[in-house]
Amino acid sequence: MDLGLKGKSVIVTAASKGLGKATAKQFAAEGAHVLIASRSEKQLQQSVQEIQSETGNEKVAYIVCDMRDKQAIKGMVDKAVSWNGSVDVLVNNAGGPPAGNFSDVNDEDWQQAFELNLLSFVRTIREVLPYMQKQKSGHIVNFTSSSMKQPIDNLILSNTFRTGIVGLAKSLSQELAADNILINTVGPGRIATDRVAHLDQVTAKKTGKTQEEIRSQSEKMIPIGRLGQPEEFAKAVVFLCSEANSYVTGQSLLVDGGLVKAL
Ligand code: NAD
Repeated sequence: MDLGLKGKSVIVTAASKGLGKATAKQFAAEGAHVLIASRSEKQLQQSVQEIQSETGNEKVAYIVCDMRDKQAIKGMVDKAVSWNGSVDVLVNNAGGPPAGNFSDVNDEDWQQAFELNLLSFVRTIREVLPYMQKQKSGHIVNFTSSSMKQPIDNLILSNTFRTGIVGLAKSLSQELAADNILINTVGPGRIATDRVAHLDQVTAKKTGKTQEEIRSQSEKMIPIGRLGQPEEFAKAVVFLCSEANSYVTGQSLLVDGGLVKAL
């Protein structure tokens, strides 16, 4: 199947490691021009080098962008446009909110999670839309979590804002379809990244178990019997953002090895 991504202008945010980096790598392997963004310049430089050397695609660039910074988001989109003339694909990602139950988080935590996990996506979409509307095509995918379908214990902030993204994307799918802009949401279940290792550490501390015990417990809950690999997640995202996807929009897809039982 030809994914039609060669030479396409792609932005992947929060992509210096984990799911964002793995996704950027798959786009680069398809010959796209990929701009990755995150907060740490050093880590971004390393990731660009790694992606270039593993895929043989030199058209990978970076820009420092904190997803909570409105001006930085505008600068990121400006860079992609001055580099490639437009934006064909936007992959929205950001760091996860802190763990905690309702009684653990205060107004400041709520405000920060709103800015990082909801408002940032609104802002990136707002910046790319004029280009996608002008060319009458575009693909947008938002990363969320399995909490968009089924709340996760001790993650009240994620449970609240991920579902907000689902509502946003569904609404936008209706508004943007006439301009041939498709928008979908992809939620990881438990994919082996630093974020999952960190959450396992938090749970281990809370329950008095070891991190290995927590990991093996969660593997037992996943029908496929193991954590996912970042590239398994990335491939689903790349399909949704490719020319091969011309009709799937407004959908919320889990890449979770069967973890969530909800329909
Ligand atoms: P990760 O910790 O491996 O990587 C997070 C990335 O986000 C890094 O590149 C980091 O630099 C970047 N980042 C963090 N804060 C940022 C900010 N303010 N501005 C710009 N970049 C920022 O995490 P991951 O596993 O790749 O997860 C990506 C997203 O998916 C997170 O929101 C996470 O909560 C969510 N998620 C992941 C899983 C999983 O199984 N890995 C499960 C559920 C949800």
